[in-house]
Amino acid sequence: MKNGKYFILFTAIMLCAAVLTSCKEHIHEFGEWTTVKEPSCAIIGLEERSCSVCGFTETGIIKKSEKHKYYHSAGKVVKEPTCTESGTKQYVCSVCGNIKTEKLLRKGHRYDIITEQKEQTCSEYGLLTITCSICGDTFEEETRPLGHNFDENNICTICGYDASELSE
Ligand SMILES: [Zn+2]
Ligand SMILES: [Zn+2]
Ligand SMILES: [Zn+2]
Ligand SMILES: [Zn+2]
Repeated sequence: MKNGKYFILFTAIMLCAAVLTSCKEHIHEFGEWTTVKEPSCAIIGLEERSCSVCGFTETGIIKKSEKHKYYHSAGKVVKEPTCTESGTKQYVCSVCGNIKTEKLLRKGHRYDIITEQKEQTCSEYGLLTITCSICGDTFEEETRPLGHNFDENNICTICGYDASELSE
């Protein structure tokens, strides 16, 4: 039984020493942070670091990522751009639902419909109506008189205006 007593005593000392070591105040010697849970734009992440002396583990928070995953959705045109007003397109993050709004540039008028209201003559202005084929906006434009085209007798070959009397 003598050996048994010694063994108990030895165990008690070791236990005491171990408890003393861990109880003893010390400045934790932390290693590098390791990521436990990756953050996303929807959730925060977690990281941990442990003391190399006592094994104490500290948990830290990794901020939400600001990188949204918009590219999964093609984007939706909320407002079509017109000739004069810009439009909007929205992209929704596939992870957190965050909405990004993008401006669609206004197109600008496309004035390609030209209607002749009044044909110009040798001496009179003509009038054109120019219409935007997208929105229908119109404006008018005068066309310069052609000017008479006199022959050798001073008579206009286009309108027949006789200038012979005036020139004499
Ligand atoms: Zn420690
Ligand atoms: Zn997101
Ligand atoms: Zn237009
Ligand atoms: Zn003429």
